[in-house]
Amino acid sequence: MKTDVLSASESTRFDDEVDVLVVGLGAAGAAAALTAIEEGASVLVAERAGGGGGTSAMSGGVIYLGGGTGLQKACGFPDSVEAMFRYLMASVGHGMDEDKIRLYCEGSVAHYDWLVAQGVPFKASFYDGYSGEPPTDDGLVWSGSEQVHPFCDIAEPAPRGHAVAFPGLAGHKLMSVLCDVLAQTPAELSFNTVCNALYRQADGAIVGARLRSFGQERHVGARGGVVITTGGFILNDEMLDAYHPEAKSCSLRIAADGDDGSGIRLGMRVGAGTRHLDKISVSLPVTQPWHLKSGLLVNPQGQRFINEDVYYGRLGEHALLHQEGQVWLIVDDEIYTKPEYGFELCAVGETPAELARDLGLPAGALEATIEIFNRHAEQGEDPLFHKRKPYLNPLTKPPFGAIDCTVKNSRYAVFTLGGLATNVEGQVLDPEDRIIPGLYGAGRATSGVSVGGYSSGLSLGTAASLVAGQHGPHPRVPDRTDDHPSD
Ligand SMILES: Cc1cc2nc3c(=O)[nH]c(=O)nc-3n(C[C@H](O)[C@H](O)[C@H](O)COP(=O)(O)OP(=O)(O)OC[C@H]3O[C@@H](n4cnc5c(N)ncnc54)[C@H](O)[C@@H]3O)c2cc1C
Repeated sequence: MKTDVLSASESTRFDDEVDVLVVGLGAAGAAAALTAIEEGASVLVAERAGGGGGTSAMSGGVIYLGGGTGLQKACGFPDSVEAMFRYLMASVGHGMDEDKIRLYCEGSVAHYDWLVAQGVPFKASFYDGYSGEPPTDDGLVWSGSEQVHPFCDIAEPAPRGHAVAFPGLAGHKLMSVLCDVLAQTPAELSFNTVCNALYRQADGAIVGARLRSFGQERHVGARGGVVITTGGFILNDEMLDAYHPEAKSCSLRIAADGDDGSGIRLGMRVGAGTRHLDKISVSLPVTQPWHLKSGLLVNPQGQRFINEDVYYGRLGEHALLHQEGQVWLIVDDEIYTKPEYGFELCAVGETPAELARDLGLPAGALEATIEIFNRHAEQGEDPLFHKRKPYLNPLTKPPFGAIDCTVKNSRYAVFTLGGLATNVEGQVLDPEDRIIPGLYGAGRATSGVSVGGYSSGLSLGTAASLVAGQHGPHPRVPDRTDDHPSD
């Protein structure tokens, strides 16, 4: 989809005018629209699909929240804003926005309360042994690497994955609740409607947009602002070629059809800056069930490169971005369990040497890796990568196996993290960090909390963190007595 920029002047006549135009109805769009309505704005939501939901409705429905939410308390896990902040600062990647992270953490309890007030259900029970969405309707999970090296030494660990009460993938439940609430407000919801151009005044302010639905164009003025909540660009091959070609090698680019970066390009066309377009989240969910964390993840040199007990998002980042997706999980008969998500054994040997030969690894390398690991594991230690004790089981019982984790043959799930540059108010910034008046952004269309290091729940969390007092777009709701609101 091509985007455009149109000139607006005093004489521009729009077909309709609203206070706030929200473009895209995923979690970010729903939260932006609901927040604007709570503040008294007239709102139009334009969504290119036939209904609301976006990628958010296809997701696991896990939301990263903490600092002592009602759910954490009900499940008996103490947490603090400071611990959450320290964990995120250490784990989200280089070049993070400290102000956004600080506000995200400080507003997290209110954010959870806001979701509950909308009717999003969370069950007050904890499910152990699972990263991301649990197979049950339990409410709280470990969704990051809080418990493992190096993060457990940086911040007091607490589970912060708030899972919407629905077994398995629960994003649709989250979105059906938010969309139902929105449908009961005066907001106009326009589906099958794509936004393909923004109106810009001579002074640079954004004052409206062109919408297209079934071949009909509609020109809408937005007195308080246009909010871009159009998701990321994982389905746009040209943008991936430009910013992150490795992402194309991943087998699973799950996203709603609309996630082609059109909103990011709409912003760029009117002079918006971007951040972290070259950053992706890649999951390699091979250690599910967690028992498989006892295995050894090795590269083509037969060497380990990470503590295997980290969150599978971190595994994926290291496997794809540092090992070129050439990795195998080595197991013995004692720890082998059939992995979830279709991972398969690709080699088996009665000895580590036989397994290494089968995999084509350099003679002696894998054998040395297993020998060193076993020697220390017997003492309950992992001096190389500091894997936790529950997963320090010496690999000694034949046969030995290699689970195929190569990017060519196994599941790597990927989505983009970068997007429009925004400040903590959700105002879109130009490359000099100057505010573009009237243009706002949230969710995956913008660069949020995670800028390269991921924990499950940070996308929906950042997308929906628009409750009052938190960061996110708060377009100026015009004074009704103002005769010339766009001046
Ligand atoms: C398998 C999988 C599981 C995941 N699980 C989780 C999880 O448990 N927790 C988590 O936090 N994250 C998860 N994620 C990531 C998360 O789903 C997304 O990053 C998040 O939903 C993005 O929300 P959003 O509101 O920014 O965008 P979306 O939900 O993608 O919404 C954007 C909307 O904008 C519309 N749109 C696009 N362009 C236009 C246009 N020009 N005009 C009009 N409309 C437009 C689209 O049709 C879409 O409906 C998961 C991702 C995958 C792939």
